[in-house]
Amino acid sequence: MPDINTSWIEAADLPLIIAGPCSAETEEQLTDVSKQLYDQGIRIMRAGIWKPRTRPNSFEGVGSDALRWIDMIKQQLDVKFAIEVANPQHAELALKHDVDILWIGARSTVNPFTVQEIAEALAGTDKPILVKNPVNPDVALWMGAIERLLNQGITKIAAIHRGFSSFRESRYRNEPLWQLPIELKRNFPEIPMICDPSHIGGERSMIPSICQKALDLNYEGLMIEVHPDPDNAWSDAKQQITPESLLELRNKLTVRSSRIQDRKLLSKLEELRERINSIDHDLIETLATRKKVIEEIGRHKKENNITIFQLNRWKEIVETRPEWAKKENVSPELVEEIYKLIHAESIKVQTKILNEDMTDE
Ligand code: PEP
Ligand code: MN
Repeated sequence: MPDINTSWIEAADLPLIIAGPCSAETEEQLTDVSKQLYDQGIRIMRAGIWKPRTRPNSFEGVGSDALRWIDMIKQQLDVKFAIEVANPQHAELALKHDVDILWIGARSTVNPFTVQEIAEALAGTDKPILVKNPVNPDVALWMGAIERLLNQGITKIAAIHRGFSSFRESRYRNEPLWQLPIELKRNFPEIPMICDPSHIGGERSMIPSICQKALDLNYEGLMIEVHPDPDNAWSDAKQQITPESLLELRNKLTVRSSRIQDRKLLSKLEELRERINSIDHDLIETLATRKKVIEEIGRHKKENNITIFQLNRWKEIVETRPEWAKKENVSPELVEEIYKLIHAESIKVQTKILNEDMTDE
Protein backbone atom coordinates (compact mmCIF):
# COMPACT_ATOMS: atom_id res chain seq x y z
CA MET A 1 0.00 0.00 0.00
CA PRO A 2 1.45 3.44 -0.85
CA ASP A 3 1.98 6.08 1.86
CA ILE A 4 -0.40 8.97 2.45
CA ASN A 5 0.86 12.11 0.70
CA THR A 6 0.47 15.22 2.86
CA SER A 7 2.31 17.69 0.62
CA TRP A 8 -0.90 19.49 -0.41
CA ILE A 9 -1.86 20.27 3.17
CA GLU A 10 1.68 21.14 4.27
CA ALA A 11 1.71 23.81 1.58
CA ALA A 12 -1.44 25.41 3.01
CA ASP A 13 -1.85 27.77 5.94
CA LEU A 14 -3.10 25.74 8.88
CA PRO A 15 -5.74 25.26 10.01
CA LEU A 16 -7.08 24.63 6.56
CA ILE A 17 -10.58 26.10 6.35
CA ILE A 18 -13.13 24.65 3.97
CA ALA A 19 -16.35 26.64 4.06
CA GLY A 20 -19.53 26.89 2.06
CA PRO A 21 -23.15 25.84 2.01
CA CYS A 22 -24.49 22.45 2.97
CA SER A 23 -26.09 22.41 -0.49
CA ALA A 24 -25.59 24.43 -3.63
CA GLU A 25 -29.10 25.81 -4.19
CA THR A 26 -28.95 28.38 -6.98
CA GLU A 27 -26.19 29.94 -9.03
CA GLU A 28 -26.80 33.26 -7.19
CA GLN A 29 -26.60 31.70 -3.73
CA LEU A 30 -23.37 29.84 -4.52
CA THR A 31 -21.75 32.85 -6.19
CA ASP A 32 -22.80 35.18 -3.38
CA VAL A 33 -21.44 33.02 -0.55
CA SER A 34 -18.24 32.20 -2.49
CA LYS A 35 -17.52 35.91 -3.01
CA GLN A 36 -18.11 36.72 0.65
CA LEU A 37 -15.89 33.85 1.73
CA TYR A 38 -13.20 34.81 -0.78
CA ASP A 39 -13.18 38.35 0.63
CA GLN A 40 -12.28 37.01 4.06
CA GLY A 41 -9.45 34.89 2.65
CA ILE A 42 -11.14 31.48 2.31
CA ARG A 43 -9.70 29.63 -0.67
CA ILE A 44 -11.49 26.29 -0.46
CA MET A 45 -15.27 26.23 -0.81
CA ARG A 46 -17.55 23.34 -0.02
CA ALA A 47 -20.92 22.70 -1.68
CA GLY A 48 -23.10 19.61 -1.65
CA ILE A 49 -24.60 19.03 -5.06
CA TRP A 50 -25.88 15.47 -4.59
CA LYS A 51 -27.37 15.31 -1.11
CA PRO A 52 -27.85 12.11 0.84
CA ARG A 53 -31.08 12.72 2.75
CA THR A 54 -32.41 10.52 5.49
CA ARG A 55 -35.91 10.43 4.00
CA PRO A 56 -37.08 10.79 0.38
CA ASN A 57 -39.15 13.70 -0.92
CA SER A 58 -36.89 16.30 0.61
CA PHE A 59 -34.40 18.39 -1.35
CA GLU A 60 -31.80 16.00 -2.76
CA GLY A 61 -29.43 18.52 -4.29
CA VAL A 62 -29.44 20.32 -7.62
CA GLY A 63 -27.16 17.71 -9.21
CA SER A 64 -24.79 18.25 -12.10
CA ASP A 65 -26.13 21.76 -12.94
CA ALA A 66 -24.05 23.00 -10.02
CA LEU A 67 -20.87 21.74 -11.70
CA ARG A 68 -21.40 24.49 -14.28
CA TRP A 69 -21.90 27.09 -11.52
CA ILE A 70 -18.66 25.93 -9.91
CA ASP A 71 -16.83 26.33 -13.25
CA MET A 72 -18.23 29.88 -13.56
CA ILE A 73 -17.19 30.87 -10.04
CA LYS A 74 -13.69 29.46 -10.54
CA GLN A 75 -13.34 31.64 -13.62
CA GLN A 76 -14.02 34.70 -11.46
CA LEU A 77 -12.26 33.77 -8.21
CA ASP A 78 -9.03 31.94 -7.52
CA VAL A 79 -10.63 29.27 -5.34
CA LYS A 80 -10.84 25.51 -5.08
CA PHE A 81 -14.07 23.58 -4.63
CA ALA A 82 -14.80 20.45 -2.60
CA ILE A 83 -17.91 18.37 -3.27
CA GLU A 84 -19.31 15.04 -2.07
CA VAL A 85 -19.35 12.08 -4.43
CA ALA A 86 -21.57 9.15 -3.49
CA ASN A 87 -21.25 6.82 -6.47
CA PRO A 88 -18.93 6.19 -9.45
CA GLN A 89 -21.05 8.38 -11.76
CA HIS A 90 -20.65 11.35 -9.41
CA ALA A 91 -16.91 10.65 -9.22
CA GLU A 92 -16.56 10.53 -13.02
CA LEU A 93 -18.53 13.76 -13.49
CA ALA A 94 -16.50 15.51 -10.79
CA LEU A 95 -13.24 14.46 -12.46
CA LYS A 96 -14.56 15.52 -15.87
CA HIS A 97 -15.34 18.98 -14.47
CA ASP A 98 -11.96 19.11 -12.74
CA VAL A 99 -13.48 19.69 -9.28
CA ASP A 100 -10.46 20.17 -7.03
CA ILE A 101 -11.27 18.13 -3.92
CA LEU A 102 -13.81 15.35 -3.43
CA TRP A 103 -15.19 13.84 -0.27
CA ILE A 104 -16.85 10.56 0.57
CA GLY A 105 -19.82 11.16 2.88
CA ALA A 106 -20.59 9.41 6.14
CA ARG A 107 -23.40 7.38 4.59
CA SER A 108 -21.05 6.09 1.88
CA THR A 109 -18.11 5.27 4.16
CA VAL A 110 -20.30 2.70 5.93
CA ASN A 111 -20.63 0.68 2.74
CA PRO A 112 -17.46 -1.06 1.51
CA PHE A 113 -19.08 -1.81 -1.89
CA THR A 114 -19.79 1.89 -2.48
CA VAL A 115 -16.34 2.95 -1.30
CA GLN A 116 -14.70 0.35 -3.54
CA GLU A 117 -16.68 1.54 -6.59
CA ILE A 118 -15.85 5.18 -5.90
CA ALA A 119 -12.18 4.33 -5.30
CA GLU A 120 -12.04 2.49 -8.64
CA ALA A 121 -13.68 5.41 -10.45
CA LEU A 122 -11.06 7.74 -8.93
CA ALA A 123 -8.09 5.36 -9.40
CA GLY A 124 -4.77 7.17 -9.68
CA THR A 125 -6.21 10.69 -9.23
CA ASP A 126 -3.91 13.21 -7.61
CA LYS A 127 -6.83 15.26 -6.30
CA PRO A 128 -7.21 15.23 -2.52
CA ILE A 129 -9.95 12.85 -1.42
CA LEU A 130 -11.46 13.40 2.02
CA VAL A 131 -13.07 10.52 3.87
CA LYS A 132 -15.78 11.30 6.40
CA ASN A 133 -16.13 8.93 9.32
CA PRO A 134 -18.89 6.33 8.91
CA VAL A 135 -22.18 7.18 10.66
CA ASN A 136 -21.61 4.35 13.13
CA PRO A 137 -18.69 4.43 15.56
CA ASP A 138 -16.48 1.93 13.75
CA VAL A 139 -12.86 2.98 13.23
CA ALA A 140 -12.11 -0.16 11.17
CA LEU A 141 -14.67 0.90 8.53
CA TRP A 142 -13.13 4.36 8.40
CA MET A 143 -9.67 2.83 8.00
CA GLY A 144 -10.98 0.39 5.40
CA ALA A 145 -12.25 3.25 3.23
CA ILE A 146 -8.83 4.94 3.40
CA GLU A 147 -7.10 1.66 2.52
CA ARG A 148 -9.42 1.13 -0.48
CA LEU A 149 -8.34 4.55 -1.82
CA LEU A 150 -4.65 3.83 -1.17
CA ASN A 151 -5.03 0.50 -2.98
CA GLN A 152 -6.14 2.45 -6.07
CA GLY A 153 -3.02 4.59 -5.97
CA ILE A 154 -4.84 7.59 -4.46
CA THR A 155 -2.51 9.09 -1.86
CA LYS A 156 -3.66 12.65 -1.15
CA ILE A 157 -6.14 11.65 1.52
CA ALA A 158 -7.49 13.37 4.63
CA ALA A 159 -10.09 12.27 7.17
CA ILE A 160 -13.13 14.31 8.15
CA HIS A 161 -14.51 13.84 11.64
CA ARG A 162 -18.27 14.59 11.47
CA GLY A 163 -19.41 12.68 14.57
CA PHE A 164 -21.36 9.44 15.04
CA SER A 165 -25.06 8.59 15.28
CA SER A 166 -26.17 7.39 18.64
CA PHE A 167 -29.29 5.79 20.02
CA ARG A 168 -29.07 7.77 23.24
CA GLU A 169 -30.30 11.32 23.84
CA SER A 170 -27.49 13.74 23.21
CA ARG A 171 -26.98 17.45 22.90
CA TYR A 172 -25.03 16.72 19.72
CA ARG A 173 -26.60 15.86 16.38
CA ASN A 174 -23.76 13.37 15.98
CA GLU A 175 -21.70 12.56 19.04
CA PRO A 176 -18.05 13.51 18.55
CA LEU A 177 -16.56 10.51 20.42
CA TRP A 178 -13.17 12.22 20.18
CA GLN A 179 -11.30 9.03 21.03
CA LEU A 180 -12.29 7.53 17.66
CA PRO A 181 -10.52 10.04 15.41
CA ILE A 182 -7.59 9.81 17.81
CA GLU A 183 -7.60 6.05 17.27
CA LEU A 184 -7.67 6.59 13.49
CA LYS A 185 -4.68 8.90 13.83
CA ARG A 186 -2.87 6.25 15.87
CA ASN A 187 -3.29 3.85 12.97
CA PHE A 188 -2.52 6.43 10.27
CA PRO A 189 -0.28 8.95 12.07
CA GLU A 190 0.32 10.96 8.92
CA ILE A 191 -3.35 11.44 7.94
CA PRO A 192 -4.54 15.06 8.13
CA MET A 193 -7.66 15.34 10.31
CA ILE A 194 -10.40 17.83 9.48
CA CYS A 195 -13.26 18.53 11.88
CA ASP A 196 -16.81 19.14 10.62
CA PRO A 197 -18.36 20.94 13.62
CA SER A 198 -21.57 21.64 11.69
CA HIS A 199 -22.67 18.00 11.49
CA ILE A 200 -21.33 17.18 14.96
CA GLY A 201 -23.25 20.04 16.62
CA GLY A 202 -26.31 20.24 14.40
CA GLU A 203 -26.91 23.65 15.91
CA ARG A 204 -24.98 26.83 15.14
CA SER A 205 -24.33 27.88 18.73
CA MET A 206 -22.29 24.72 19.31
CA ILE A 207 -19.84 25.32 16.47
CA PRO A 208 -17.23 27.54 18.23
CA SER A 209 -16.53 25.17 21.12
CA ILE A 210 -16.30 22.14 18.82
CA CYS A 211 -13.85 23.99 16.54
CA GLN A 212 -11.68 25.02 19.48
CA LYS A 213 -11.62 21.49 20.83
CA ALA A 214 -10.55 20.17 17.40
CA LEU A 215 -7.74 22.74 17.20
CA ASP A 216 -6.63 21.84 20.71
CA LEU A 217 -6.42 18.23 19.56
CA ASN A 218 -4.13 19.40 16.78
CA TYR A 219 -6.54 18.88 13.86
CA GLU A 220 -5.21 20.20 10.58
CA GLY A 221 -8.46 21.67 9.33
CA LEU A 222 -12.11 22.63 9.75
CA MET A 223 -14.98 22.15 7.32
CA ILE A 224 -17.80 24.52 8.22
CA GLU A 225 -21.21 24.97 6.61
CA VAL A 226 -21.71 28.62 5.68
CA HIS A 227 -24.80 30.02 3.94
CA PRO A 228 -25.69 33.60 2.99
CA ASP A 229 -29.14 33.15 4.59
CA PRO A 230 -28.86 30.16 6.95
CA ASP A 231 -32.43 30.22 8.29
CA ASN A 232 -33.79 29.79 4.80
CA ALA A 233 -31.29 27.15 3.68
CA TRP A 234 -32.79 24.21 1.78
CA SER A 235 -30.92 21.70 3.96
CA ASP A 236 -29.35 21.76 7.45
CA ALA A 237 -30.68 25.27 8.18
CA LYS A 238 -30.12 25.13 11.96
CA GLN A 239 -26.40 24.39 11.75
CA GLN A 240 -25.30 26.79 9.02
CA ILE A 241 -23.73 30.15 9.84
CA THR A 242 -23.37 33.38 7.88
CA PRO A 243 -20.04 34.45 6.36
CA GLU A 244 -19.88 37.24 9.00
CA SER A 245 -20.24 34.71 11.81
CA LEU A 246 -17.49 32.63 10.26
CA LEU A 247 -15.15 35.59 10.29
CA GLU A 248 -16.04 36.34 13.91
CA LEU A 249 -15.46 32.69 14.79
CA ARG A 250 -12.09 32.60 13.04
CA ASN A 251 -10.97 35.65 14.97
CA LYS A 252 -12.00 34.04 18.24
CA LEU A 253 -10.29 30.69 17.77
CA THR A 254 -6.94 30.11 19.45
CA VAL A 255 -4.47 28.16 17.38
CA ARG A 256 -1.98 26.57 19.74
CA SER A 257 1.33 25.13 18.71
CA SER A 258 1.96 21.41 18.86
CA ARG A 259 5.69 21.92 18.44
CA ILE A 260 7.41 23.09 21.57
CA GLN A 261 10.46 25.10 20.63
CA ASP A 262 11.19 27.04 23.79
CA ARG A 263 13.52 24.87 25.94
CA LYS A 264 12.16 26.20 29.22
CA LEU A 265 8.57 25.39 28.21
CA LEU A 266 9.71 21.96 27.11
CA SER A 267 11.47 21.12 30.36
CA LYS A 268 8.48 22.28 32.41
CA LEU A 269 6.22 20.04 30.31
CA GLU A 270 8.64 17.14 30.68
CA GLU A 271 8.69 17.58 34.43
CA LEU A 272 4.87 17.55 34.59
CA ARG A 273 4.75 14.49 32.33
CA GLU A 274 7.21 12.71 34.62
CA ARG A 275 4.84 13.35 37.54
CA ILE A 276 1.93 11.97 35.51
CA ASN A 277 3.99 8.87 34.67
CA SER A 278 4.63 8.23 38.31
CA ILE A 279 0.96 8.77 39.25
CA ASP A 280 -0.08 6.34 36.50
CA HIS A 281 2.37 3.82 37.88
CA ASP A 282 0.73 4.15 41.29
CA LEU A 283 -2.71 3.76 39.74
CA ILE A 284 -1.70 0.51 38.07
CA GLU A 285 -0.08 -0.81 41.23
CA THR A 286 -3.29 -0.02 43.10
CA LEU A 287 -5.28 -1.93 40.47
CA ALA A 288 -2.93 -4.89 40.89
CA THR A 289 -3.43 -4.85 44.67
CA ARG A 290 -7.19 -4.62 44.15
CA LYS A 291 -7.03 -7.60 41.79
CA LYS A 292 -5.33 -9.73 44.45
CA VAL A 293 -8.18 -9.02 46.88
CA ILE A 294 -10.72 -9.83 44.16
CA GLU A 295 -9.03 -13.19 43.61
CA GLU A 296 -9.31 -13.88 47.32
CA ILE A 297 -13.02 -12.96 47.22
CA GLY A 298 -13.39 -15.30 44.23
CA ARG A 299 -11.83 -18.21 46.15
CA HIS A 300 -13.98 -17.47 49.18
CA LYS A 301 -17.15 -17.45 47.07
CA LYS A 302 -16.13 -20.70 45.43
CA GLU A 303 -15.52 -22.46 48.73
CA ASN A 304 -18.87 -21.30 50.07
CA ASN A 305 -20.85 -21.66 46.84
CA ILE A 306 -21.86 -18.02 46.65
CA THR A 307 -22.83 -16.31 43.34
CA ILE A 308 -20.33 -13.86 41.84
CA PHE A 309 -22.74 -11.04 41.17
CA GLN A 310 -24.27 -9.46 44.25
CA LEU A 311 -26.67 -6.72 43.20
CA ASN A 312 -26.63 -4.88 46.52
CA ARG A 313 -22.85 -4.70 46.64
CA TRP A 314 -22.73 -3.36 43.07
CA LYS A 315 -25.40 -0.76 43.93
CA GLU A 316 -23.36 0.33 46.91
CA ILE A 317 -20.25 0.74 44.75
CA VAL A 318 -21.96 2.83 42.03
CA GLU A 319 -23.55 5.02 44.66
CA THR A 320 -20.57 5.62 46.91
CA ARG A 321 -17.64 5.96 44.49
CA PRO A 322 -19.10 8.92 42.52
CA GLU A 323 -19.95 10.53 45.88
CA TRP A 324 -16.35 10.11 47.06
CA ALA A 325 -15.20 11.55 43.73
CA LYS A 326 -17.39 14.62 44.15
CA LYS A 327 -15.81 15.33 47.52
CA GLU A 328 -12.37 15.23 45.89
CA ASN A 329 -13.50 17.48 43.05
CA VAL A 330 -13.16 14.65 40.51
CA SER A 331 -15.90 14.14 37.92
CA PRO A 332 -18.45 11.67 39.37
CA GLU A 333 -19.44 10.62 35.84
CA LEU A 334 -15.84 9.70 35.07
CA VAL A 335 -15.55 7.68 38.25
CA GLU A 336 -18.84 5.88 37.54
CA GLU A 337 -17.59 4.91 34.07
CA ILE A 338 -14.27 3.73 35.49
CA TYR A 339 -16.06 1.60 38.08
CA LYS A 340 -18.25 -0.01 35.42
CA LEU A 341 -15.05 -1.22 33.74
CA ILE A 342 -13.44 -2.24 37.03
CA HIS A 343 -16.56 -4.17 38.05
CA ALA A 344 -16.80 -5.95 34.68
CA GLU A 345 -13.15 -6.99 35.03
CA SER A 346 -13.72 -8.12 38.59
CA ILE A 347 -16.57 -10.39 37.44
CA LYS A 348 -14.27 -11.80 34.74
CA VAL A 349 -11.51 -12.57 37.24
CA GLN A 350 -13.92 -14.23 39.68
CA THR A 351 -15.65 -16.23 36.92
CA LYS A 352 -12.28 -17.69 35.99
CA ILE A 353 -11.66 -18.73 39.58
CA LEU A 354 -15.12 -20.19 40.19
CA ASN A 355 -15.05 -22.18 36.99
CA GLU A 356 -11.41 -23.22 37.05
CA ASP A 357 -12.23 -26.84 36.19
CA MET A 358 -14.44 -25.90 33.21
CA THR A 359 -12.48 -25.40 30.02
CA ASP A 360 -13.86 -24.19 26.70
CA GLU A 361 -12.67 -27.29 24.85
C1 PEP B 1 -22.68 17.18 4.27
O1 PEP B 1 -21.47 17.39 4.40
O2 PEP B 1 -23.52 18.03 3.98
C2 PEP B 1 -23.17 15.81 4.57
C3 PEP B 1 -24.21 15.28 3.99
O3 PEP B 1 -22.46 15.25 5.54
P1 PEP B 1 -22.38 13.78 6.17
O4 PEP B 1 -21.91 12.85 5.07
O5 PEP B 1 -21.37 13.99 7.22
O6 PEP B 1 -23.73 13.45 6.71
MN1 MN C 1 -25.09 19.37 5.64
